[in-house]
Amino acid sequence: MEKIFDTHAHYFDAKFDTLEGGADAILSSEEFRSTVCGVVNVGTDPKSSKIAVEMAKKNDFMYATVGIHPSDAQNVCKRTPDEELADIEAMVSDEKARKENKIVAIGEIGFDYYWQPVNRDLQYEYFDKQMSLAEKYGLPVVIHNRDSHADVFDMICRYPNVIGVIHSCSMSAEMVREVVKRGWYVSFAGPLTYKNAQKVREACAAVPLDRLLIETDAPYLSPVPYRGKINNSVYMQKTAETAAEIHGISFDEIARKTAENAKFLFGL
Ligand SMILES: [Zn+2]
Repeated sequence: MEKIFDTHAHYFDAKFDTLEGGADAILSSEEFRSTVCGVVNVGTDPKSSKIAVEMAKKNDFMYATVGIHPSDAQNVCKRTPDEELADIEAMVSDEKARKENKIVAIGEIGFDYYWQPVNRDLQYEYFDKQMSLAEKYGLPVVIHNRDSHADVFDMICRYPNVIGVIHSCSMSAEMVREVVKRGWYVSFAGPLTYKNAQKVREACAAVPLDRLLIETDAPYLSPVPYRGKINNSVYMQKTAETAAEIHGISFDEIARKTAENAKFLFGL
């Protein structure tokens, strides 16, 4: 069976510490090594971004992104945006160090209008400045979008030289076609398998095979039948199966294609 490439996980998350052996036990297991060919470990603030890098350097199949998530911008970052973002820029500005550290994108960045209270101005400042960083250093971005479709789309349009991935896509099929037209990739996580997620499956069907990615968002968003459990990349086989059904191709084809796309987008 073809191995799968998980384009979005947070293996530094404290939830993994509740499992025996933590994330390391999962990442080194026989099952993991025989089913997963790649993982992008996605940072959400300066500290977790540094840990994401350390983990990537320890695991041959793992890569890292560095960035500040809109919720972390509001709740975790205590310094000014420019001070916090200086830490992110320091990790990507030197190309040689960036490659040694296996940093492949700026992320996770974006808007989250779900968790209250929402500070739109602050989220905008962080998102906009990180899009600028991506443009400056020629890096792709990993976008978080929750209940903020129109504003995310506006930001994408403001930076025509930046491409990236819409992670755990919840956009409509119509909007997906618009972002694809602009060169973007679209990624689906466990919700693709949920019974009442017809809209997500329609959006997946609207993504051409050369722009489609799959992911876990581990430890979150486990696919059926693992809902409620701590997610990991092995479970993503279920998401891959569903994506294969939607596109009318085999599991091996979807696994091969999505891994190829991940390698292309992240320059691996
Ligand atoms: Zn995430």
